[in-house]
Formats: sequence, C-alpha cells, structure tokens
Amino acid sequence: MAKLNITDVELSNKKVLMRVDFNVPLDKQQNITDDTRIKETLSSIKYLLDKKCSLVLCAHLGRPKGKPVPEMSLKPCAAHLAKLTGVKVQMAPDCIGAETKKMADALNPGEILLLENLRFHPEEEKNDPNFAKELSSMAEVFVQDAFGTVHRAHASTEGVTKYLPAYAGFLLKKEIDYLGKAVENPDKPFVAILGGAKISGKIDVISNLLNKVDTLIVGGAMTYTFLKAQGLSIGNSLVEDDRLDMAKEVLAKAKEKKITFLLPIDHLIADKVEAGAKSEIVMENIPAGMIGVDIGPKTIALFTEAIKRAKTIVWNGPMGVFEINDFAKGTIAIANALAEATATGATTIIGGGDSVAAVAKAGVTSKISHISTGGGASLEFLEGKVLPGIAALKDK
Ligand code: AMP
Repeated sequence: MAKLNITDVELSNKKVLMRVDFNVPLDKQQNITDDTRIKETLSSIKYLLDKKCSLVLCAHLGRPKGKPVPEMSLKPCAAHLAKLTGVKVQMAPDCIGAETKKMADALNPGEILLLENLRFHPEEEKNDPNFAKELSSMAEVFVQDAFGTVHRAHASTEGVTKYLPAYAGFLLKKEIDYLGKAVENPDKPFVAILGGAKISGKIDVISNLLNKVDTLIVGGAMTYTFLKAQGLSIGNSLVEDDRLDMAKEVLAKAKEKKITFLLPIDHLIADKVEAGAKSEIVMENIPAGMIGVDIGPKTIALFTEAIKRAKTIVWNGPMGVFEINDFAKGTIAIANALAEATATGATTIIGGGDSVAAVAKAGVTSKISHISTGGGASLEFLEGKVLPGIAALKDK
C-alpha cells in the first residue's frame, strides 16, 4: 500500500515531530566521524523549514539500554546539524518531561529542537503507550524519516502514530520506492546477490527472493554450506552444519522454480584468515586445512556476466573477507560490476553495512542507484515482511 509523504499533505506552519536517524559514530572526544546519516535527512528538514514548520526532531544514538549515558547524548548532532543547516538547533534536556515540553511549545516556525536520546528511556523500545503519547503531545503531525528503525515497533516508530497523523519523509520515501519496486514489480531480469557470513541470517530473504528473481547469486561464507550440502569438500571454511538441510531445500526450490542459482566455481583459499596468509586459487574442492576467503577470478567473470544482463540488481553481503585487502578482490569486483550496470541503465540497490562499506572501498558509491540506509530494515523489506514503522503511516 502506498503511503502519504510530506509533499502529499499541507504542512505549512505545522509543528512537526520527526523521527530521524542520527545514530552516528562518535570518537572518544565526541566528534562525529561519519555524518552521512545526518546529511541524508537534510532534504526533509530543509523542506519542512521552508514550509515554516517548527521541527521537533527525535532520534536514538547507540545502545544506552534505557538509562541516560552521557557519551550517548545527541548534543554533538545538534551542533553538527546547526552547522549543516545554518539554523540554530536547540537541545532539549530529555525527550519527554515538563522542561522539554515547554521548549517544544515555545518553538517558532522555522526553528529546530532536538530531543535527547529516546533510548535513555526503556519505554521507547517497549513501545509504551504513555511514553508515545507524551512524545506526540509535542507536535501536530509526525514524519518518519529514519528507515533504519522502521522494522521495529517502538514508541517513536509506531506508538506515536496512534496519536498523530504520520507521513513519510523524503529519505523513507526513497527507500520504499526502490525496495518496494524491487520486491513487487522489478524490471527483469532481476538478479539478487547475497553474501556474508551466515545462511541463517539470510534464509528468509533467500526464500522470499526465490519467488521473485530470475537469478540468485550466492557468495561469501554462505557458499561453503551450499557446497558441503552438494557433497563438495570445503576444508576449514566457515560452515553451518546445522543448515545443510536448509541449503539443500533452497537448491531444490531454485531448481523447481527454474531459477538460475549461481554459486562460486573457483575460490581464493588461505591457510589463515589474516593479511599476508599463504593463498591460492582452486576450483571446486577446497583441500583439507585451507579456508575459502573470497571468490576466484572465474567466479568474478561468471557473476559479472549475470549482472551485465540484469535490469534490476539487489546486493546484500560481501563475497569474501573483504575487510582484509588480500581477500577483497571479489567484493570490489562486484561493486564495480554494479556501478557499470547502473551506467548502462540497470537499477542497482545495495543494503547492509558491509556491502555499503565495500562500495565505498571501491569508490563507486555515487554510481549506485540506491544505497539503503538501514541494514536490518532493508533485509526485512526483502524478506517481504510488514515493517511496523511503515505500515503505521497514512495510506495514500
Ligand atoms: P553478514 O553480516 O552476514 O553480511 O556477514 C558479513 C561478514 O561476512 C563480513 O565481516 C565478512 O568478513 C564475512 N565473510 C564473508 N565471506 C567470508 C568467508 N569466506 N569466510 C569468513 N567470513 C566471511
């Protein structure tokens, strides 16, 4: 169901409670080391300020576990947002309470108030109705722009929508548009590439995508569970022995649905998962004592060919232990292949922190159609699940 966004309704002069993703990394001196998340929500913030809204922003930072933790204060984000927007950003002492409410009430059109870390209160993650009500008492409408949180039913994602009309901000709209089209109505051929450590974390995505894709590509450590399930030797590679049956079922389902299921055909193997380890390329079987750490050159060529033919490509999870440069070639090659596919008209979508980091490492971030801002949320979207923070928004 399509959701109303901030351009679908008249918001001029309204007091807006907006959920943003300011969960940024901080160093020991409380400096923001990567402000991508703050920058990504600027278009919604600027749009609402232009509409003379007064903005009450709410967010979480880190995992304070329901109590105030000074190092997890959102104060550095207030200062940084002021710098980015040129607008003064007031910092509330808390996210609820009399003093905070007074600040919200006194807010004028075009002004910004940032509430303190929502997760300083256990009621946020418990989706406590009284807490949600208190939050919503600070505004007339709610705008959701924190995609990374919408897979959780928390007070600031779902609870507040019981008390305020709720709309999608631009960042959330972009996520829904790209991911929604991919799972509902993708331009074909549709290729999904899944990698990373474990089948167990991605089995629901694999199951859902088997009903949608033309080609499913598997790389990363997940490979070895599939290879072992097919009777190949995998040496000391990472494997989930309790998922062998699951892997067999996936292979059988892919066959039944006549989906092209591509697994690596050669491997970079190493004697240790360390920089400088002894390594070589092998086909098919991995000798005893050796560990598969990346896809090999023939696999890169095979996967790249499939990517070239695709019109929609979704990628989640690295092809190898890409954090170690010696083992990053396969993952970087896939990132480059996606960038080239985008240039020739394909829609490319990347989700998950590791793949996003890999694309940055390859220097092709700007050449991808859509980089999802929520790892967990994008996976649940691809699993076909209802995301409570999206479901709660007003329907078009
Ligand atoms: P995930 O969170 O499931 O997407 O897994 C990401 C992690 O998988 C990264 O830290 C990679 O280093 C790791 N990974 C990818 N390929 C391999 C491999 N062949 N062996 C061990 N770990 C791997």
